[in-house]
Amino acid sequence: MPQLGFGVWQVPDDEAYSAVTEALGAGYRSIDTARAYENEEGTGRAVRDSGIARDELFVTTKLWNTDHAYDDAVRAVDASLERLGLDHVDLILIHWPVAGSEQYLEAWKAFEKAYADGKARAIGVSNFTVEALERLTKEAEVTPVINQIELHPYMQQKQLRAAGAEHGLLTEAWSPLGQGKGLLDDAVLKRIGAKHGKSAAQAVLRWHLQTGNVVIPKSVTPSRIKENIDVFDFELDAADLAEIEALDQGKRFGPDPATFNWMG
Ligand code: NAD
Repeated sequence: MPQLGFGVWQVPDDEAYSAVTEALGAGYRSIDTARAYENEEGTGRAVRDSGIARDELFVTTKLWNTDHAYDDAVRAVDASLERLGLDHVDLILIHWPVAGSEQYLEAWKAFEKAYADGKARAIGVSNFTVEALERLTKEAEVTPVINQIELHPYMQQKQLRAAGAEHGLLTEAWSPLGQGKGLLDDAVLKRIGAKHGKSAAQAVLRWHLQTGNVVIPKSVTPSRIKENIDVFDFELDAADLAEIEALDQGKRFGPDPATFNWMG
């Protein structure tokens, strides 16, 4: 899996086609969509029209909260593949554990079947808490490969990253730029970026890469799409990393998985 990919949350289907086309042109090879984003069709079309060999691309989608019952999950995997126009995805994630329910265990059985059938090359989770991770890994025949969680300098998730590593999971950062809401105006991040001739966004992405996170920034603006992948020609030093580590303040921009059970 490429460590840096492209996310398409909140991008309408037709715009997803042009944004993903732009991203693939800029060099991204990993795309993160979801049933809930309602843009699997545009995303899949862009992937298929790109002319890039399928085995050079890494496509991730996610199972929505209303589809955790075993039969629903089996059907939902097929429906996602149908919308994407692909015969397999490289990774499928349980989007949320859904607070108060353990039906994700049924969804996981359906994922194990999709994995065995070659419909998903890898299976994982998103927004899993330490408790949900422990519950699932105890029951699972196939271990999840990754937990995709909200993660950025203001919410560094040290405990959850450590718990994932203990169970052999990678951690993937969603909203890695803090949704562009304030984080990128942080004076420390701007200064560290400038020191390397880069933007605050590039400094943040570099921090993710050097921390070991898989990262999937989103933009629909061509110049930013290019900027966000132009992060492989510099390195943060120990002082930069220490300064960014000190920005951790447990600040979420998205919902808390411990209480989130939305079925919309
Ligand atoms: P993000 O942190 O990637 O921020 C995106 C926003 O930041 C953009 O809309 C833009 O306003 C701004 N931005 C982007 N590049 C910039 C740049 N170079 N300079 C200045 N501003 C810039 O936010 P996100 O979209 O929430 O997260 C990324 C991806 O993570 C999503 O698209 C989606 O694929 C995934 N995600 C997953 C979940 C989940 O529950 N699993 C939740 C949210 C997001």
